[in-house]
Amino acid sequence: MKALSIRQPWAWLIIHGGKDLENRTWNTKFRGRFLVHAAQGMTRKEYEFARDFALQANATLLPPLEDLQRGGIIGSVELVDSLDRSDSPWYMGDKGFVLRDPKPLPFMPMRGRLGFFEGPSLVNGETICTYQWGTWECRGDGYLWDADHDGYDPSECDNACPCCNTLVFLQRAKEEAETTSSYSNGYSSGTGESIWLDHVKAAHRENPTATEAALAKIGPVHALVDDNSHPEGFVVRIHNTEPAVVIQQLTTGERQQ
Ligand SMILES: [Zn+2]
Repeated sequence: MKALSIRQPWAWLIIHGGKDLENRTWNTKFRGRFLVHAAQGMTRKEYEFARDFALQANATLLPPLEDLQRGGIIGSVELVDSLDRSDSPWYMGDKGFVLRDPKPLPFMPMRGRLGFFEGPSLVNGETICTYQWGTWECRGDGYLWDADHDGYDPSECDNACPCCNTLVFLQRAKEEAETTSSYSNGYSSGTGESIWLDHVKAAHRENPTATEAALAKIGPVHALVDDNSHPEGFVVRIHNTEPAVVIQQLTTGERQQ
């Protein structure tokens, strides 16, 4: 998800001190939750200025300078507007990003960049995704990359992360299950139905909360299964129906393999 690097102690004040406005020289069209990255650099002068400013704005007392975490993610906050002027006691100009609902996160060291940049994904809005399966790792934007290969190849990175991008992970499994009656590769073989069931199992293991929400949104899955006793060569089994666990065998006149 998006991240923005902010110098301390302002970053701390956003997450813990009620600072509801981020001053910038530019407006943004971005809206939504982003990660607050505490920049590495901070001078004693900056700290003292911000401490005095925070006192005027009735903010919580700052922690000692040496206790402020720098060079990493410290929390997330929602950006709801980007203004030319503001009445907020935190407004200093030129533009102001209006912020709400800050949430602290366990510190995660990371290099910052200018402007909004791609930071790690959050799982259920609470923790940073650290999903790993074999050599596959969450690359931080809801998709996986193969850490086995040298460097980062965007063409390899189309697999959705079951942990932090569970809905897309299951939507793609549904598509695959509804268009594949059987498959076989060097590693495994199965049917559309087994593709669906394997993905649901993996999603459940990684993120049960998001899996329940995703299944409710996705609705019935018409999974294909190879079956040579049928004229079409396959049958359809319906999964994820209400009431749960109804598996129905159908003849499928309209379906093409
Ligand atoms: Zn992830």
